[in-house]
Amino acid sequence: MELSSRITEEEYSDIDQNAPQWKDWRWQIAHTVRDLDTVEKVLGITFSPQERQELEETIQKFPLAATPYYLSLIKVEEYAQDPVFLQAIPSPDELIIEDCDLEDPLAEDSDSPVPGITHRYPDRVLFLVSNVCAMYCRHCTRKRRVGDRDRIPTWEEMEAGIAYIREHPEIRDVLLSGGDPLMLPDELIDRILTELRMIPHVEVIRIGSRTPVVLPFRITDKLVSVLKKHQPIWLNTHFNHPQEITPTAERALAKLADAGIPLGNQSVLLAGVNDCPRIMKALVQKLVKNRVRPYYLYQCDLSEGLSHFRTPVGKGIEIIENLIGHTSGFAVPTYVIDAPGGGGKIPVMPTYLISYSTNKVILRNYEGVITTYREPDHYTTIFCDRNCKECSLQLNLKGGEEQHVVGIARLLSDYDEATALVPVDSERMARRDDEEE
Ligand SMILES: *Cc1c(COP(=O)(O)O)cnc(C)c1O
Repeated sequence: MELSSRITEEEYSDIDQNAPQWKDWRWQIAHTVRDLDTVEKVLGITFSPQERQELEETIQKFPLAATPYYLSLIKVEEYAQDPVFLQAIPSPDELIIEDCDLEDPLAEDSDSPVPGITHRYPDRVLFLVSNVCAMYCRHCTRKRRVGDRDRIPTWEEMEAGIAYIREHPEIRDVLLSGGDPLMLPDELIDRILTELRMIPHVEVIRIGSRTPVVLPFRITDKLVSVLKKHQPIWLNTHFNHPQEITPTAERALAKLADAGIPLGNQSVLLAGVNDCPRIMKALVQKLVKNRVRPYYLYQCDLSEGLSHFRTPVGKGIEIIENLIGHTSGFAVPTYVIDAPGGGGKIPVMPTYLISYSTNKVILRNYEGVITTYREPDHYTTIFCDRNCKECSLQLNLKGGEEQHVVGIARLLSDYDEATALVPVDSERMARRDDEEE
């Protein structure tokens, strides 16, 4: 599939939002805007010669691509502060590289047993099935790969990923990402989902796609019928600002929700775009109105070229503080920092448990009320030796055993002897080993 066709200025004059082809996702892709001349033309703006030169340099390193639909959401009068403009159009600030910036901050490549698969958590994998996106988000965490055509997986590579999943019975959840999986043709999506569905231990398939935001016309009846065949399918999308939730996007979301696909949203906290409690509250409320559950709010990653988008962590905490209690519980996402080095997502939320004694906990609520919860005087601890057959609680688990316990959960358990987690490179432990020898 050729997605890169660059249109000429004359062709651009056909672009008319009222034309029937405007709603054809393939037409939108064929008319992807990839150069500054066209940006100036569609937005009716002119960059200064210096801006122009800096932007050209930026595009050399991090290419530009945006759908005419997404660009049409820009409020041109104030384009320099427009949230859609800031996400779609390059900024020379992308060339600033800070000491803390990393090429692969999430170590997705190091945790990859076969190309395309990142196996980080015990029971689920990330499976990159596409390197193509309808729009190149300026804040992309995988910015290093954007426009890297060699990374488009072949069917052989895809089969190797599927084989890995088949050979690992602990994988119950497969997260298809990319690139954007929904940029693949319907037939290929169907084929991948069919193969995955044939694996008995794959309970859930998740799709991460920004098409409902940048190319809502992609959510066709045909695509929805393909997805519906392979239920349970969950879909997470990526709205960052209420301005992106247009009537067109709302129709796309409704089609997916009507097909029984639970919808979630992963936002990224971006300086100048959505680093404001009122904007985020309006966003989450508009999402739940469209049956989309806010799932994560990400702290912006340490990828190269993103420094101008990063906010202090305190901004995220302030936003969550403005949501919990102030609006519906299911409208509040979990604020996470994806740990550099591959530690995975770490939730960072405001603190509500402010003190405790042996029989009381002291809590505060969103209004600042400080309150007491009296703990039970009599609670019979159930000692767990993992012998569920003898336990008074009824797990009644059939089939596969769960993983062994790891991390803090292991320290909390009764049946594992571990009392401390010690870093592998601890000098103190190295000294002990030396003494033993
Ligand atoms: C985010 C992510 C997942 C899914 O994590 P959840 O918290 O279950 O949504 C899985 N694998 C990788 C590598 C991820 O980055």
